[in-house]
Formats: sequence, structure tokens, C-alpha cells
Amino acid sequence: MQRDFLGRWLTTLTVSFMPIRPVLQLGNPVLRKKSVKVEDPTARETRDLIQNLADTLSHWRSVTGYGRAIAAPQIGELQRIIFLKLPRAEPWPLINPEIIESSQEKIVVWDACLSFLSIAMQVERHRQVTVRYQNLSGETLQFEAGDEHNVSELLQHEIDHLDGILAIDRVVDVKSICTREEFEKRYRDASPYAVAPATIKS
Ligand SMILES: [Zn+2]
Repeated sequence: MQRDFLGRWLTTLTVSFMPIRPVLQLGNPVLRKKSVKVEDPTARETRDLIQNLADTLSHWRSVTGYGRAIAAPQIGELQRIIFLKLPRAEPWPLINPEIIESSQEKIVVWDACLSFLSIAMQVERHRQVTVRYQNLSGETLQFEAGDEHNVSELLQHEIDHLDGILAIDRVVDVKSICTREEFEKRYRDASPYAVAPATIKS
């Protein structure tokens, strides 16, 4: 009985003070692990985890100016959940997301990651992908992502995290890797996020 009370009290306390969680940095072996499927998207723990992702992302965004999305393994939770917060858009949690279709056509884009914010690099992505996922009510939904707002490459980046794959694994040419400062100075102005899509024959 006493334990029940303590448990409830602790839950209330945790919910009232949603912590901004540390973002694991490159070299932490947890970032290389495969995440497990979320069995119950409607569970309280799922909701809490998504709230933590939202709080952590918003903190990083306000401090660094970077961060449109985050994946659960980046805060040390090996669950198949990603969370997007695009400018002027509603928060968008995707539970158990999977790419069910991807275009043959690929593009080369600038990429960055909250787990190694000091460098930027050019990576190869599919131009379009179709993602199937569940929402917090457990409904299965589908989303076709194309060039708009670079959502396609963003979803590919985040879903990769769930399989322990990082943007540096997708670098096309290691010579494109540059420091954040050089990226800002040389490339960001000309192209806020992506370089002019270069089509790669595949
Ligand atoms: Zn990342």
C-alpha cells in the first residue's frame, strides 16, 4: 500500500518535472544499438518518453538553433520512436516508423546531428520515401515525403537512428566533412539546409 503510494507520488513528480535529457554523443555505444518495437503506443510510458523528446529537442533548438527532430536512442531509450518539430508545424511523434517505399532517385544533401553537432557533412538519401508509423492512439498511418521542407531526408536520418545507423555512415565523400563554423561560413547562407539536389544515378 505504502509502496503504491510512493510509486504514484514518484510518477506525479516525474510528470511534473519532465527533464531535459542529455543527448548521447558520437562514440557512445548506445547510439549503435538497434531499438525495439513499441508494443503499446497508447501506454503512459510512451507518452512520457515522447514528452521528454519534445522537451529535449526544444531545449537544444533554443540553445543551438539546430534540431528539427530527435530519435529516442539519442536520449538513451532504445525504443522505435522519433519526434519531429518542424518550424510552424505541430509536434509530430512517429511510433514504430518504417520506410515502406523509397524512390530510386537519390540526392546528396548537407546533414547534421544533435549527437555530433560540431561537424556537418554531405550524405546520400532517397529523394522520396513513404513512411508507415503509428500515432499515440495506436492508429497506423502513412506519409509520403518528398522535397518539401526536406522532410524526406530528415525522416531517413531519424529512422536510421533506430537501427544504430548514423549520418556519418552515409557520407558520400569524406572530404565533404567540415566543422560547424566552416559550414555556417561557406555553405549555410547559399543554401539554408540542403545543397541543390544532385541526382545520383543508381
Ligand atoms: Zn541524428
